[in-house]
Amino acid sequence: MELKHNRYIIIFSLVAFTFVIVAIVSAFYASYAGDIKKEQLKLVKANIILSQSIQKKKEEFEQIQDKIEDIEELIGENSSTKNSNISKLLANMNQKTKKLIVDSIPSGYPSSTQRVTSPFGYRMHPIHKIKRFHHGIDFGGKMGTGIIATADGIVEYADFDTGYGNLVVIHHNFGFKTAYGHMKTNLEVKKGDFVKKGTVIGYLGNTGISTGPHLHYEVKYIKNVLDPKNFLTFNINNFENLLYTENRIAWDSLTRAIMNLYGRASLAKLL
Ligand SMILES: [Zn+2]
Repeated sequence: MELKHNRYIIIFSLVAFTFVIVAIVSAFYASYAGDIKKEQLKLVKANIILSQSIQKKKEEFEQIQDKIEDIEELIGENSSTKNSNISKLLANMNQKTKKLIVDSIPSGYPSSTQRVTSPFGYRMHPIHKIKRFHHGIDFGGKMGTGIIATADGIVEYADFDTGYGNLVVIHHNFGFKTAYGHMKTNLEVKKGDFVKKGTVIGYLGNTGISTGPHLHYEVKYIKNVLDPKNFLTFNINNFENLLYTENRIAWDSLTRAIMNLYGRASLAKLL
């Protein structure tokens, strides 16, 4: 009887021991599986965040790409003009024809200040601290210095602009436009006014997004922004410089247009 009792105790102990072992193993496994699940969830979350950030970067990259294409379009990097024979064009022009062209398109400095504080092209923006394309030339100068129209034209805009401050945009003949920014509030012209080359249109100021008194000057041709530098010194004596450097202008076609405008009679006299 004693022996049988002992056997039951052993069997019971064995069963109990097995249960305990199974329970420990299951608990361990459960916690391990739980950890794995948690880890998995963490990874899934991280993956979602990463995919979102990749998507965001992709969109940002596409936006930058678009902007680069916009700028290329704006400065006419992709537009090739057919100025195959500038030397022939120049050979057929006399001084009077050259003068007609110089007087018809933006030429000379827009004010007495010739101190360039920021050239045309890519630069680190002084306020936004990021690389931006500068569409014009900045001239530093004294507040109130007179600003003049660089060619005859019609005032297309004469008002305040958040970025450009007090801005005047003049529409000239043959597809040219000039813009004058950051001027003082007392503009001398209004939208629709006809201005002659040399007319005072306003005064150097510090309005809009500006770090100090300066004039922002732009030259545009059709939809392209051009480097105004080439136009500042443009005159009949260095006429060929601009024709050779500014290849986004169809000079042969432009010359013909100017000559047609002034009529065959005067053309006969000119040539
Ligand atoms: Zn500027």
